[in-house]
Amino acid sequence: MPVSISSAFDSGNIEVVRKASETDWVLRIAKDAGGRFFQWFHFRLAGARGLPVVLRIVGLNGSAYPEGWPGYAARISADRIRWTTAETHFEKGSDDGTLTIRVTPASDFLWIAYFAPYPLERHFDLVSRMALKPGFSARVLGLSLDGRPIDLLEVGDGPCPVWIYARQHPGETMAEWFMEGLLEALADPACASARLVRRAARLHLVPNMNPDGAFRGYLRTNAAGANLNREWADPSPERAPEVLAVRRAMDETGVAFALDVHGDESLPHNFIAGFEGIPTLRPGQLERLHRFTERLALHAPEFQTAVGYPPSLPGKANLGMSTNQLAERFGCVAATLEMPFKDCAELPAPETQWSPARAKALARSTLAALADLLPELR
Ligand code: ZN
Repeated sequence: MPVSISSAFDSGNIEVVRKASETDWVLRIAKDAGGRFFQWFHFRLAGARGLPVVLRIVGLNGSAYPEGWPGYAARISADRIRWTTAETHFEKGSDDGTLTIRVTPASDFLWIAYFAPYPLERHFDLVSRMALKPGFSARVLGLSLDGRPIDLLEVGDGPCPVWIYARQHPGETMAEWFMEGLLEALADPACASARLVRRAARLHLVPNMNPDGAFRGYLRTNAAGANLNREWADPSPERAPEVLAVRRAMDETGVAFALDVHGDESLPHNFIAGFEGIPTLRPGQLERLHRFTERLALHAPEFQTAVGYPPSLPGKANLGMSTNQLAERFGCVAATLEMPFKDCAELPAPETQWSPARAKALARSTLAALADLLPELR
């Protein structure tokens, strides 16, 4: 049987440029709709058991985050459950930026991805499983451009409206692994933080805001090529119905605390970005955000506050971004949580680098930090 490569499945993305030999492949990443962004890849190598295979992904200097490749290691899995790192090397000067991945599969099938994938089928498994848990309910906020549901899970008996949402950028799959960990913790009767939060708050949880991008194997946009996290100021039904549906539901419930969950391609850290530059900062609003990030750093040794994005200058915040829009609109505490694609420099784990299990553990710590903050939000 010849060696083959395919990405024609849920969340797949790769194009074969050239098969130089059975064990030497030149590949490239297909662009998101709109033709601007690419970085996410996910494909299956078949028929290469025991063969040393070289996979060269070329043209990466034009990717969305070229600085994301040095120090990065591709993720591989034989069973699609356990994901580890592959020997990976980036050369900026070769074929307009080449990522070389070397593997010798122990199995007939090897799955290779930018990060452990979170396919849309797993999303539907997650929301269906969680909707059955005591105290949970689920509803559809609206439809994506391709007609996929924007699913919302709700839980909690308290008056404080909390929104946590993920995967505006579909290639940042760690964000939905985080949501899986958060939902499982909230359903765990032994989790004291979850019980505190459920008593004080009503939680509105959107595990995947961009199902079209997730299914199509995109990094950053929806089916219309829109970067959803730039559409929050004036979302239109033609360009960003996903944002419009979520923002409308937020207007109905109000928002006291909002967390937007992402991955960062370049920085080897977990960090929070805030809303420093919004036009109308309320008294105590930024202080409450800082209290939350300090508490998160105490609960999660893998989270830190020293490295992150520079805050925007007074009055210069981009209100198309959800964290800024919600902080301005509701006067609430809003934050963007970024997790790494690389490793976490504070506590490295070279065999997996950042991983689904670590994202899920961070979600539990986040719940503990939220429990600490809730008395201030009433
Ligand atoms: Zn993002």
